[in-house]
Amino acid sequence: MMFCRVRPALVAVSAFAVVLSGATASAATPDTQAAGQRWWSYVQQLASDQMEGRLTGSEGYRRAARYVTEQFKASGLEPRGVDGYLQPVNFDVQRIQAAKSSLTLIEGNHEQALSLGEDALLGSRLPQPKSVEAPLVFIGYGLHIPDANYDDLAGQDLHGKIVVYLSGGPSNLASALKAHSRSPQEFYKAVEQAGAVGIASIPNPKNMDIPWSRMSLAASQPGMRLSDPAFQDTRGPMFTVTLNPAHAEQIFTGSGHTLNELLALGDGGKPLPRFRLTATLRADVSALTEQVESPNIIGVLPGSGPQRKNEYVVLSAHLDHLGIGEPINGDRVYNGAMDDASGVATLLEVASQLHGSDLPLKRSVLFVVVCAEEKGLLGSRYFAGHPTVPAKSMVADLNTDMFLPIIPLNNLTVYGLEESTLGDDVRAVAAGMDVKVLPDAQPDRNIFIRSDQYNFIRAGVPSIMCAFGASPGTDEDKTMKSWLTNRYHAPSDDTNQPVDLVAAARFNRLLLTLTERIANADARPEWETTSFFKRFAAANN
Ligand SMILES: [Zn+2]
Repeated sequence: MMFCRVRPALVAVSAFAVVLSGATASAATPDTQAAGQRWWSYVQQLASDQMEGRLTGSEGYRRAARYVTEQFKASGLEPRGVDGYLQPVNFDVQRIQAAKSSLTLIEGNHEQALSLGEDALLGSRLPQPKSVEAPLVFIGYGLHIPDANYDDLAGQDLHGKIVVYLSGGPSNLASALKAHSRSPQEFYKAVEQAGAVGIASIPNPKNMDIPWSRMSLAASQPGMRLSDPAFQDTRGPMFTVTLNPAHAEQIFTGSGHTLNELLALGDGGKPLPRFRLTATLRADVSALTEQVESPNIIGVLPGSGPQRKNEYVVLSAHLDHLGIGEPINGDRVYNGAMDDASGVATLLEVASQLHGSDLPLKRSVLFVVVCAEEKGLLGSRYFAGHPTVPAKSMVADLNTDMFLPIIPLNNLTVYGLEESTLGDDVRAVAAGMDVKVLPDAQPDRNIFIRSDQYNFIRAGVPSIMCAFGASPGTDEDKTMKSWLTNRYHAPSDDTNQPVDLVAAARFNRLLLTLTERIANADARPEWETTSFFKRFAAANN
């Protein structure tokens, strides 16, 4: 799953009924156990040290892509890339040289050097200018949401300024609106159009996914963007920096406001003031750039319905992870076993089971394994912009990313549950397996737009992502949270961690049954009329 340095604040989680149903590992049939083992063997291959963490553009990624291609072939999938199963994607890579870069806060005659790593992290995704010196303006949450008549960018002269914003958003706005306006496509464009030359973000410590120390280790990783000019989020360079909230108080000196005061308001989702800061920020940025190519991998299981075979149920998952990086506990390989070798393994398992079944599906099933999810959902963005089947023939996307089979499958969290009729489908399938469906308990973590389904949503395709769920406060919930704190985007997300293979097999069975149901249904899935995301389907018609 893609890491967001900043995201809207968590909101209070509403309580819902706890229902734990019966399935346990001991009750599993030999078939289920074998299916779990088979899925695990795919994960072991994809997350082995040999694959070197599958960084987009790396040799390790190419090795993993060859493995996926072989498995697609073995399951009888037809190639549906542009070069066999492959759809090559080109990237511009930017690596920040922190040791050769500098950041200085200027207050009148007083200059203070900020430490890159301790105080601030330079962004690697948007093209950085070589140098910038500009006044700072605080723009609250920095959200620009015309749909809600809400605009933190209005009313101040941002021309030539570096805008500073706090992660989160006002609690009275729908999380889908906030999440959408924070997406790179929307946010960077709005800031650039307002005339700003830079963006400084301050994450609210109350809702940081991983501690600053791990964010700091990750800052040396290369940033990427699609080389294709049609996919640029800004027209030119844009200075980007993330400020450590523990050290950022100093930039508010003399402004009449303190960061503590702003954080307290942010915690409650209250409105934030917007004001000029007295300080100026100067940056000199050294970065290495290169271009790489890395493929998406696409295969199709053709349907048998005379009309419906020309329509596709898309199953997607991302193959890339973070590659080799800064060591943690002596381990430098970020294997990404759960993120997202597990999801690719699920696609391989579903393909293999469909291959072994003698009941052909009416609609075709398109298996889309993408690159560069970790770099900002880029492989899926490229695919959605250059689909290898007609765009309108994709009836649904079921994305699988980091579904976390580390507890029994009693509860399934469905991201996008209320957005389309896919919610009814998944409820029916889960009920048949004694699995309770939970809505997203933390909508303001933005998970619905933080993995590849978002690019299908933007292309108008009804989408959901399913993952293991736990009711708040339970031991299982603690297990999940502790995984996020300790293993998410760390080298310990490897094949030495405890995983419930029976639970994984049950999840795969659920996804297979859901795929069959959608592929054989008379009608295609539809967005709910109340869904915010329905607008993309309308725009694509
Ligand atoms: Zn990830």
